[in-house]
Amino acid sequence: MTIESILPRPDIFEAKRVLCIQPHYDDNDIAAAGTLALLQQNGAELFYLTATDDLMGIVDHSLSDEEAAEVLKRDQFAAAKIIGVKEQFWLGYPDAGQYDYFDVRRDFLRYIRMLKPDFVFTADPWLTYEAHRDHIQTGLAAAEAVMLAGVTKIPSGDPAIDAEYAGHDIKGIAFYYTREPNQIVDISSTWETKIAAVRCYTAQFDPRGMDQLVFALDAKTRQVAAGESFPRGEPLKVLHTSALHCGF
Ligand SMILES: [Zn+2]
Repeated sequence: MTIESILPRPDIFEAKRVLCIQPHYDDNDIAAAGTLALLQQNGAELFYLTATDDLMGIVDHSLSDEEAAEVLKRDQFAAAKIIGVKEQFWLGYPDAGQYDYFDVRRDFLRYIRMLKPDFVFTADPWLTYEAHRDHIQTGLAAAEAVMLAGVTKIPSGDPAIDAEYAGHDIKGIAFYYTREPNQIVDISSTWETKIAAVRCYTAQFDPRGMDQLVFALDAKTRQVAAGESFPRGEPLKVLHTSALHCGF
């Protein structure tokens, strides 16, 4: 049994400024590009914030870290052009490495106070059987930063931003990579756009790996749309910001 929040589910299609906080450079698009492309077409501005440097998954091991960082950004900009991402930011924490949770949360607070998004998208940190710590830490730090954005006694690392920040309305948070969705978004019209964006991520997928990923996404988007009136969907857990504490 799942006890749903008593708070109404915010309407993601009312979003005007969406901050998409991802563990790795391709997660927003693999998980939610169909939905994000719809929001962009609907007039929302998209901002991507990437927590880690992604250097562990590079296919071409002959590249130096500097060269790898360049091809990773090349992929991201190519995909961003397809989805219509307005601006991207990177934090550069070590991919699959050791870093401090509170540093990540501090940095997320800074971007939330600076960009003032009305919706935040991120990975569901409570996804059962998720083994990648980057995903769990990023999702939890993003959710906590959304909940604590207005508590400016918690520093963001930039005193000027904290002094200026007077609070703003974050309508909701949408968790992707979730097993407990409360919304299946019809992405039938943006499926091709999503796959075109995903296919840009060649630094971390060789051609065979990419074909396997697209095959898996094809199956997954159909699976989650089973019983719906459309053929392909992306699952989201969309919560009111006040639902992020004590189960309301
Ligand atoms: Zn990832």
